[in-house]
Amino acid sequence: MFSKSLEEALNQQVNAEFWSAYLYLAMACNFEAEGRPGIANWFRIQFQEEQAHAQIFMNYINSRGGRVILRPIAEVPEKWECPVCAFKDTLAHEQKVTAMINNLYAMAEAEHDYATREKLNWFIAEQVEEEETARELIDKFTLIGNDGMGLYMLDQELAARTYNVPSPLATAE
Ligand code: MG
Repeated sequence: MFSKSLEEALNQQVNAEFWSAYLYLAMACNFEAEGRPGIANWFRIQFQEEQAHAQIFMNYINSRGGRVILRPIAEVPEKWECPVCAFKDTLAHEQKVTAMINNLYAMAEAEHDYATREKLNWFIAEQVEEEETARELIDKFTLIGNDGMGLYMLDQELAARTYNVPSPLATAE
C-alpha cells in the first residue's frame, strides 16, 4: 500500500533535492565569479547529482502509481566568503537531508511499506558518502589555510571531478 502521507512526504523530498541542486548551483556560480574554476566544477557536479536524486524519487513515485507534484523552489544564498564556508554549509545541509531521509525510512517502516524502505537504502548509504566528502574537503581547506600553492593544487584536484550517473538511474528501465 502506497499511502497518501508517504506520497506527500516523498514529494517534499523531491522539492528538497531540487533545493539542494539550486544551493550547489549557487555555490558553483559564486566560485566561478571568484576565479576558482575547480571548486565551481565540483559544485556543478553536485548540482547534477542532486537533480538525479530528485529524478530517482520522481521515478519511484510514478512507479507506485502516485503523482509527482512540483512545487516552487525556495530562494538560496548567493554569496560565500571562502571555500571552507561553502563546504561547512554543504555539510550542515547534508546533515539535514540525512535527517529527512531517516524520517522517510521511519515512516515507511511504520506503515509496513517495505518497497519504499528498500528504495531508501540507496539514499541512506549515499548520505554517508555526502557527509564524509564534505568533512574531508573542510579538513583539506582548513589545513591549507591561505597557502596560495595549496589552494591552487586543491582547485586543480576539484577540477578533475566528473559526473557519474547514480546507479538507480543508470539501471532504470
Ligand atoms: Mg541529495
